[in-house]
Amino acid sequence: MKIIFFSAQAYDKTFFNRYNDTLGFELDFQEAQLSEQTVGLVNNAEAICVFVNDQINAAVCKQLSEKGVKVIALRCAGFNNVDLEAAKANGLRICRVPAYSPEAVAEHALALILTLNRKTHKAYNRVREQNFSLNGLLGFNLHGKTVGVIGTGNIGKSFCRIMKGLGCRVLAFDVIANKDMESIGVEYHPLAEVLAADIISLHCPLNNQTKHLINPETIGMMKKGAMLINTSRGGLVDTKAITEALKSGQVGYLGIDVYEQEEHLFFRDLSGVIIQDDEIQRLMSFPNVLITAHQAFFTEEALSQIATNTLNSTYELLKSNKLSNQAALLV
Ligand code: NAD
Repeated sequence: MKIIFFSAQAYDKTFFNRYNDTLGFELDFQEAQLSEQTVGLVNNAEAICVFVNDQINAAVCKQLSEKGVKVIALRCAGFNNVDLEAAKANGLRICRVPAYSPEAVAEHALALILTLNRKTHKAYNRVREQNFSLNGLLGFNLHGKTVGVIGTGNIGKSFCRIMKGLGCRVLAFDVIANKDMESIGVEYHPLAEVLAADIISLHCPLNNQTKHLINPETIGMMKKGAMLINTSRGGLVDTKAITEALKSGQVGYLGIDVYEQEEHLFFRDLSGVIIQDDEIQRLMSFPNVLITAHQAFFTEEALSQIATNTLNSTYELLKSNKLSNQAALLV
């Protein structure tokens, strides 16, 4: 049984090859992103494996089905890039990895907060230049600050625990309040109240309800100078609106691991290329903006879990058309 990987990186090969020993799939790693232009790379494969920026739209689903593909395995949690209706209509089964080391992403959100706040990235470069001045490096204590968490699923819960541990007051907004979180002192409030926190961290999925959740109106509900962290999906934030808010000082700090147009940029070395995306160039020019290129998931533990779960789910679906982990099954 063959699985064709799209958007494959060297680390995908390392981890998937390591955990494929017992299952014995034929693994074919392609660097190309999946789209209508690249779906032609699929041949003689029962399954394909895709990542966050591969585009699985109706036309791609139709072609995959015609080529005999049975299973699409997402080696990630989010599935905003998949047309689930089209997949179902074309008889494709789709699985994802619903919860792999949520701590990996929650800890990266903390890394963004601490770096933006205490400016360790600037201090590191300064000291290497023998500049031991502290001017411009002033931060604030996290202890006692209010943190607003939007989405308290697997990652949001882990993030709430971390921030409680640091002595923060944690306010949360979710469509469903979580009792475990309430028992550790997380307070659920309407969105407007959560947006008034000192630090806001986004941990909800991207869908029709959450697209541009952070827009001119909701930015207006934020405390002047607040910090916004997005490790979830770029489309949650209206890039033009956040740029204006940074220029006016309404938003004081921005830490993002995801970006709305990231599929044209992330996971590649573009250091010798003239980047045509003026919006990210403007964001990169702010001293109070920190951008990482979708690396929050990137830990040993998470990659091991992604590889084992993806291979096991693909195996189960191909062998029995059933999946023991229902949360992993999308269609
Ligand atoms: P999850 O499904 O466990 O939790 C999502 C939570 O969001 C749920 O509690 C859900 O009720 C809530 N939610 C849904 N709609 C909402 C809304 N309109 N407003 C507020 N809350 C809402 O998902 P998770 O595993 O915690 O992952 C969250 C997101 O993180 C994923 O959707 C994915 O996009 C992103 N992610 C990013 C990385 C990365 O490397 N940067 C890695 C993994 C996941």
